Amino acid sequence: MQTPFNFFSRNPRGSAVKALNLNDIKQAQKLCKNFSFGPLIAHAPYTLNLASNKEKTREFARMVLREDLERLETVKATYLVMHPGSHVGEGIKEGIDKIASGLKNIVTGEESVMVLLETMAGAGSEVGYTFEQLYDIMDKTGNPEAFGVCLDTCHVLGAGYDIIGKLDEVLVEFDRILGSHRLKAVHLNDSKYPIASRKDRHASLGEGELGLDSIKNIINYPVLRTKPFLLETPGGLENYKKEIELLKSMIVE
Ligand SMILES: [Zn+2]
Repeated sequence: MQTPFNFFSRNPRGSAVKALNLNDIKQAQKLCKNFSFGPLIAHAPYTLNLASNKEKTREFARMVLREDLERLETVKATYLVMHPGSHVGEGIKEGIDKIASGLKNIVTGEESVMVLLETMAGAGSEVGYTFEQLYDIMDKTGNPEAFGVCLDTCHVLGAGYDIIGKLDEVLVEFDRILGSHRLKAVHLNDSKYPIASRKDRHASLGEGELGLDSIKNIINYPVLRTKPFLLETPGGLENYKKEIELLKSMIVE
């Protein structure tokens, strides 16, 4: 069995990056082979904003995304997950247009690394907190088949999707609007805030509003159980270890 591997394409807050070192890549590939890591899933920096009202900020985001896609090709990553962006007061529609026009110039569909748009909580002026908004972004690039979606359990709950009581209905809606073939990865996080809070504050598994029963339901749900699940919970490596063991014990064979 393979274990998905989640990493940042560069410093997630400052966007600094060191030059690719072929020796590092070889060593990483060896590690991946020895520990059966895969697929490799990178996360773009949080600081990128294709929806900014400043051209300089948008240009920086395009530059970083272009560079990251090229670098990730070399390390043979499968996906690059990105937060769509924040409209900073200009409104959702304007935000969607800006994100789509930015992506249009970067993603051709010929890349070996697929860009996944992450479902957002709708905190501040975040764009992409409904399935419709994510679909509109992809559609407006003119190349919707080039994109996939990463479902974040903390964010969708914050956005108002009831994955605690009505997971099946939420996934039917996902399929109707986005198509389940677009669901490529799941960020599995508990949430410090309740449903529809529009807040993005991750909690450790079982220590938030989702709770372990919902998490068990999510990891075993037919259309989800075969997807790569990635933890973005607080607490560092020790906590990840505990959570991975806990999740393994909750898999229903
Ligand atoms: Zn996430």
